[in-house]
Amino acid sequence: MQNIVLFGPPGAGKGTQSEYIIEKYGLLHLSTGDLLRAEIKEGTALGLQAKQNIDKGELVPDAVVIGMIENKVKSNPDAKGFIFDGFPRTVAQAEALDKLLVANNTAISGMVALEVEDEELVKRLLNRGKTSGRADDQDEATIQNRISVYNKETKPVADYYNAQGKFKSINGIGSIEEIFGRIVEAIASF
Ligand code: AMP
Repeated sequence: MQNIVLFGPPGAGKGTQSEYIIEKYGLLHLSTGDLLRAEIKEGTALGLQAKQNIDKGELVPDAVVIGMIENKVKSNPDAKGFIFDGFPRTVAQAEALDKLLVANNTAISGMVALEVEDEELVKRLLNRGKTSGRADDQDEATIQNRISVYNKETKPVADYYNAQGKFKSINGIGSIEEIFGRIVEAIASF
């Protein structure tokens, strides 16, 4: 199985690049952001609770997102592999993911990190907010909070995979095709 973590701050282009990765490698896309927004749309108790964190640019509790990923991995035993997008966002989530994959006789192949500087992220997110309808993309204070949560809680996840020799960082600025080319090169090195 090929299991890839696509990593990077909000607005780095993870969602866009995931679509290209799915097509080329036939992996199943697991985006905790998408799964949470689906719960919100359906008006579930989990969704209503998560919306409170999401709208403030905070992380949803580890147990909630780990539970969602567990369900998806277990219910897709025949998948060729997974592309994890926006997960893991804390070291606790990374540890839980490793355990879950070991229990399913597989492992993370590698993490590809998209590097984009903060100023560019704010610009991209505000721009996306005009069409995404996402409240968390429309307010600059919320965006700044998402970036600072990323720097504090999520960045250590890169060190976690680096320590396992499974980390590759690439430039996230350029055309979609250029960036995808860099991702393909990184995946080939795992
Ligand atoms: P995203 O679509 O990945 O930008 O996620 C949107 C929001 O959903 C984030 O700002 C968090 O509030 C929440 N979220 C998504 N994935 C996670 C995760 N792995 N851990 C905690 N919160 C998450």
